[in-house]
Amino acid sequence: EAKESRMPIRVFSPHLGAAAGRRRVLETDLRRALANHEFLLAYQPKVDAGSRRIVGAEALIRWQHPEKGLLSPAGYIHLAEEIQLIVPLGEWALRAACFQNKLWQDAGLPPIQVAVNVSAHQFKREDFVETVQRALDDSGLEARYLELEITEGALLQGSHDVLHALRGMGIVLAIDDFGTGYSNLSYLKDLPVDKLKIDQSFIRDIVRDPSDAAVAQAIINVAKSLRMKVVAEGVEDRQTFDILEGLHCDEIQGYYCGRPQLPDEFIQLLRQGFAM
Ligand code: C2E
Ligand code: CA
Ligand code: CA
Ligand code: CA
Repeated sequence: EAKESRMPIRVFSPHLGAAAGRRRVLETDLRRALANHEFLLAYQPKVDAGSRRIVGAEALIRWQHPEKGLLSPAGYIHLAEEIQLIVPLGEWALRAACFQNKLWQDAGLPPIQVAVNVSAHQFKREDFVETVQRALDDSGLEARYLELEITEGALLQGSHDVLHALRGMGIVLAIDDFGTGYSNLSYLKDLPVDKLKIDQSFIRDIVRDPSDAAVAQAIINVAKSLRMKVVAEGVEDRQTFDILEGLHCDEIQGYYCGRPQLPDEFIQLLRQGFAM
């Protein structure tokens, strides 16, 4: 009997399909991973289009899985959202990015803005502003070196008061994946945000597709007339970079300027000041 009681108890429901079973395994694995500190942040440089200097970096979650190696978010971020694990995971990312950026500054490296992705579940919480303030206080990072990337969809779920509060603190606010959501111009003009990030889908074929170039141009014009900065993401080659520079896009992010990298490698780029 003693032997039996040590056996792990597993309940398999015949009603659960294979996909649901895999999902449950992943869910358990994700919760364990957060508790076991298996998540890391990779940093991808954002380059000033004119000077080509590194002016910022986007912090992107990676999972150092004990068996599967370093995993990008595609396979698990959706589930993390669904089970709202994105709230503690996102808070971890926010704090880790603030501490990392302060560490680089304290090491004498040129100061940059580190951008952190914020999910709708985080943004609509009542304690979100406090959580951000605490991350800044605890790390000692000045607010102007923190940028928050929020999708249009997430923005719709939170309040303008929250945006005003964050901006009042001095944090830089960017709309992520711009152009894919509810880009209603009268809505946009009242939003207290500093930057628009043109979605990759409009950038990818800009060299070959004149209508994509027209969309990018239109977004840049809208941003300028609202006194916002514009970032393009997903820039993979020199021609795309040159086109965007010609359109007066402010900042460029993409494999052409540098892949997301773990801090040990990213610090080398920061030392040089240039990624490309
Ligand atoms: P995103 O916020 O749109 O981030 C940009 C994604 O594009 C990243 O994928 C980045 O590695 C990838 N990328 C950058 N440059 C290029 C390029 O030149 N070409 C191509 N094809 N892709 C490029 P990644 O790291 O796999 O992240 C995927 C998504 O996961 C992110 O999309 C974001 O929505 C989510 N995510 C990552 N970290 C966090 C986080 O801390 N919190 C939240 N809520 N979401 C996160
Ligand atoms: Ca982003
Ligand atoms: Ca994006
Ligand atoms: Ca995206």
